[in-house]
Amino acid sequence: MDTQYFERMESEVRTYSRSFPIVFDRACGAHLWTTDGTQYIDFLAGAGTLNYGHNNPVLKKALMDYIERDGIVHGLDFWTHGKQDFYQTLEELILKPRGLDYKIQLPGPTGTNAVEAAIRLARRITGRSNILTFTNGFHGVTMGALATTGNAKFRDALGVPAIGAQFMPYDGYLGEGVDTLDYVEKALDDKSSGLDRPAAAIVELVQGEGGINAASIEWIKRLAEICKQRDILLIVDDIQAGCGRTGKFFSFEHAGIKPDMVTNSKSLSGYGLPFAMLMMRRDLDKWTPGQYNGTFRGHTLAMVTAAEALRHYWKDDTFEQDVQRKGEVIRERFEMLAGLLSDVGHPAKERGRGMMRGIDVGSGELADEITHGAFQRGLIIETSGQAGEVVKCLCPLTITDDELEQGLTILERSIRSLIE
Ligand SMILES: *Cc1c(COP(=O)(O)O)cnc(C)c1O
Repeated sequence: MDTQYFERMESEVRTYSRSFPIVFDRACGAHLWTTDGTQYIDFLAGAGTLNYGHNNPVLKKALMDYIERDGIVHGLDFWTHGKQDFYQTLEELILKPRGLDYKIQLPGPTGTNAVEAAIRLARRITGRSNILTFTNGFHGVTMGALATTGNAKFRDALGVPAIGAQFMPYDGYLGEGVDTLDYVEKALDDKSSGLDRPAAAIVELVQGEGGINAASIEWIKRLAEICKQRDILLIVDDIQAGCGRTGKFFSFEHAGIKPDMVTNSKSLSGYGLPFAMLMMRRDLDKWTPGQYNGTFRGHTLAMVTAAEALRHYWKDDTFEQDVQRKGEVIRERFEMLAGLLSDVGHPAKERGRGMMRGIDVGSGELADEITHGAFQRGLIIETSGQAGEVVKCLCPLTITDDELEQGLTILERSIRSLIE
């Protein structure tokens, strides 16, 4: 495979291609093929962007039809038929049945843009600047969002101090049996805690990049209550955990809470097209016209596939039931694999929610050996966590039982080969 152009021309900033230094060409569902035809099963799926698989045929058809009839591709923030269809479908199939009454802001097309917009709006509304964020949180790498992202790898690259946010311990950060919200609550109410009164709290309910840490339902409910009592806006960053990944369309549905704002992106278009949105409680829409703009606010092709994905997968609860069922299959296997590792002196733990699952194997080196071994056997799977110590599964939600079994078997073989 000819990789000279990548090596000569592509910046050193590249990441995923270092773990998988081969040239991919085609993809379908949960499979990827290289230029020379080697097949891989995809348990990375665009880091949670391809919940409905690569080149999903239903979405592809909607996209092709739209292009074929010269539907508007780029229209700034014009009202287009494509956008109307998206809003209508979102309201009817997602928001109304869940009792949610949100307005939508379409910022630039990637996740971090939605986070920036949420943070900025929270500051405008409250007149406060501080944002509460949580250890191991990942919210994007533009300036405002980066201040709420924990990982030093990203923060160190900012070049100026990351300001405007203060970190609080996420659920589980201080070990089992400690409710980290005891500290959060105390710090908020103690005038000498050093915590500036926040405009908002931003949180992932299952941390993706931070290591597949799933906050407990009680913790989520209590956080929502703490924010509500103190007039702090709650922003749920559902960019990775949303669109069904945890077994419900929104990750917060499990806890029955209604966040003040929700950011969504990655799998929102359903087809891997860039698309981000901020949902806000209706009364929070304090923007004045044009105050936050961007050339690619709402990319119509992404809205066309997004609307089709909602129609096809979210008209009833069949899909989410199936995600929950497959999530259990993954959980059981991961628990078994964590047990295998623990038995031979590598304490490991399974965690996650729905089909957002990981095995914390305790060290980044071991996790790398496992994912590298899996790659050699035909499985694309990555790590996350502060030291890359969590082997994470983000396979397409549409993966078939057979494909899932094949992928899990490869992972198991890779682990067994290291310990037996
Ligand atoms: C990926 C991600 C982002 C950033 O999205 P980009 O499209 O990379 O800007 C923000 N928050 C979470 C939870 C993410 O997983």
